[in-house]
Amino acid sequence: MKKNGKKLKIVIFTGYACNNNCAFCIDSDKRGLPEKSTAELLREVLQAKNKGADILEIIGGEATIRPDFSRVVKAAKKLGIAEVACATNGRVFADMAAAKKIVASGIDSLIFSVHGPGARVHDALTRASGSFSQLKKGLANLKALGFKRINGNTTVVKQNMSALPRLAAFYVRNKIRNVEYIFVDPNYGGAKNNFQVLVPRISKAAPFMRRALEIGLRSGMDQWKARYVPLCHFTGCLEQISEINEKTLFLTEHWAPDFVNTDAIGSRAALGRRKTARCRGCLLYSACEGIWVEYLKNYGDRELKPVKKLKRGPGGLRHRSSDDQT
Ligand code: SF4
Repeated sequence: MKKNGKKLKIVIFTGYACNNNCAFCIDSDKRGLPEKSTAELLREVLQAKNKGADILEIIGGEATIRPDFSRVVKAAKKLGIAEVACATNGRVFADMAAAKKIVASGIDSLIFSVHGPGARVHDALTRASGSFSQLKKGLANLKALGFKRINGNTTVVKQNMSALPRLAAFYVRNKIRNVEYIFVDPNYGGAKNNFQVLVPRISKAAPFMRRALEIGLRSGMDQWKARYVPLCHFTGCLEQISEINEKTLFLTEHWAPDFVNTDAIGSRAALGRRKTARCRGCLLYSACEGIWVEYLKNYGDRELKPVKKLKRGPGGLRHRSSDDQT
């Protein structure tokens, strides 16, 4: 445990190369940047260890397509980093030999990005035909290997929001106990470049996100979360909002090829998102990060609704302010 009881999480970006081509990808304008070399990655793993990282997340682009991926994970585990995780589109795991090699590297957990309940929605968003069926095969291979620590995340856009309840059923069927429904970030990349095509109104997306969380709760999945949302649309499920939880638990650093950010959570709240004059007097003001800056530029702030009273949610959840969380 580190500063103020928070765990230090270091996210190493290997580069931006990817075997998918997601329409909303925040890195879509960075594909041409050079990948980090193996030597650079091994050096960074050592630096992360020396800095006291409790959690190392290795991401891309798509980190698992690199031939040195398992070697880097193995190095981190050998150094004694407690938790090594990777966010992945899951396609590589469709190859049993590749899945075996990665599991044998000692990786602790995998976060599968699933953007639709089936190939039609998922593949349309990844713009990679066959990506959903490979992801499903990857899940089956990992199950066959006895690898259980698989989490999920879904980027919520116009094209998949109404499918979230069916996607929630997919996660339940696959026993994915940690899932994040992430409201798309339009500040950079694909969603910025195609804002009107991809970014839903929060007032339209939130009911589907809440419904997905409810489906999880009914199936005993109490660790599912919504991320990057204005709290006024989630007053009944405030204990399931990632930002409220993470700022009390983690100090997060991002080490990318083109930037280093030693306080990713703080800078997102300070620069990436914004509350407006409409938020004045809101009971959730201090706990809330508002909404994406780029969202406000395009859609304005009419959907933000200052909260005057708090109520209990479907799971019997009650809000605690950022000051009283332990
Ligand atoms: S009104 Fe503003 S401060 Fe209050 S929950 Fe909504 S976005 Fe957050």
